[in-house]
Amino acid sequence: MPPIFRLGDTMTGEVRPLTTLDPGHLRFYSCGPTVYNYAHIGNFRTFINSDLVVRTAQALGWRVSYVCNITDVGHLTQDDVADASGDDKMAKALKSKEGEAFVNVWDLAEHYADAFKSDWFRMGLIKPLVWPRATQHMREQITAVEELIEKGHAYQTKDAVYFRINSFSDHGKLSGNTNKDELRTAVRDVVLDPEKEHPSDFALWKKDDKHLMQWYSPWGWGFPGWHIECSVMAMKYLGETLDLHAGGEDLIFPHHESEIAQSECLTGKVFSNHWMHSRFLLVDGEKMSKSKGTFYSVRDLVEDQGIDPMALRLSLMAVPYSKPLNFTMQGLADATKNMERLYECARLSSDALSRPDNAPGVASALERVYDEMLEAMCDDMNTSVAIAKALEGTGVIFRESANLGGASAHAALHFLNRVEALLGIRSIREEATGQGDPQEANAETLMNARMVAKQNKDFAAADRLRLEIEALGFEVRDTPTGPVLRRKLSAPEIQ
Ligand SMILES: [Zn+2]
Repeated sequence: MPPIFRLGDTMTGEVRPLTTLDPGHLRFYSCGPTVYNYAHIGNFRTFINSDLVVRTAQALGWRVSYVCNITDVGHLTQDDVADASGDDKMAKALKSKEGEAFVNVWDLAEHYADAFKSDWFRMGLIKPLVWPRATQHMREQITAVEELIEKGHAYQTKDAVYFRINSFSDHGKLSGNTNKDELRTAVRDVVLDPEKEHPSDFALWKKDDKHLMQWYSPWGWGFPGWHIECSVMAMKYLGETLDLHAGGEDLIFPHHESEIAQSECLTGKVFSNHWMHSRFLLVDGEKMSKSKGTFYSVRDLVEDQGIDPMALRLSLMAVPYSKPLNFTMQGLADATKNMERLYECARLSSDALSRPDNAPGVASALERVYDEMLEAMCDDMNTSVAIAKALEGTGVIFRESANLGGASAHAALHFLNRVEALLGIRSIREEATGQGDPQEANAETLMNARMVAKQNKDFAAADRLRLEIEALGFEVRDTPTGPVLRRKLSAPEIQ
């Protein structure tokens, strides 16, 4: 019997089984980034946790329809104090030093959306069914606002269209923020508009014919409020009731509370049956800070500091989503060492494939370790235990390394593939070989020589050739379709 997937639900405050409306088909929406700069490691911790939900569900044999939006419309930088003419995040980014590289705000959004996707893949995240973008769903957002007005849940003033909080009695059910008057200072998207009926009413549409991104609507030129895009895009791709909705804990209020209000007033149905929120990330025990140099984007660490993206991923998973994570360079160094173990395991297992098998117990031992790893993931995504299990598996492989061969070497590689499928941790270095590297042709010649040596069972020569290939900055990986050459990542320099 496969384990039951239990997951914390912010709505009930309990860890409970994740269920699906269609048997075996999870419909899952996770809030994505606003693309006005490079995503930081705190953002990616949340995205990785959503990715782990997808992977765990898939490991249980479920089909997953996974949607992650891209917010490419600027919203006010300080929505709680700004009026409708205040600076928005995109406009502000365009005026910054980095912004000088872009022709306009559309160009800027495009650049950061592309960067986000490339960071996504190098961090080993599964491609969602769709990455819907706010700017490409303007018609749907306008239609939804019109419908909310028609149903009496929204109204128009001179400056904007607002959602009427008092028309939805369930407002506050996710965050527990039910005293509307106390909330007014906490509400983002509050606009200083004397015509507003209630201070907590939030904007669905802002009228602004000077905004850098504007669309024509029944209320004139302007742009949508932040929350409406997620309601509209989630329901468009996944239906009126989702099985699971996720995001960072900072989105519980007002963003997710507002999504619930809009969506449930539009459909009269429950918007999502389960809500999962990742806790925050600290660096060295403190909030990330630009002035202290601890505001890390994925790019800072991977490109500038040469950190292995898989080690970064591992360190961002070290603590389960339900607990705050303290990111440290020591934690990253530990993760880097653990990745080296996984890489070494993959290497020695693939090198052992053509040797005789003298390790008959390996397959069943790894099978048991994998089952425990899956159980840990189904237990409210206990990544700490799951990672410990992956390392326990490498221990099994190392202990038997001299005896591995044939079936047991296959079992070892199968285990590593399953670690990748479940935890997104690749044990084959993913960096593709570059074009035009003069050493690449040499490495390829050596790789072919090594293949011949192995065919002749001259394993000493094969090992020597492998070292020569590595000295050129490459490594060779034996796959079922033959050996493959990869560029070796340099070991990161971490104190
Ligand atoms: Zn959202």
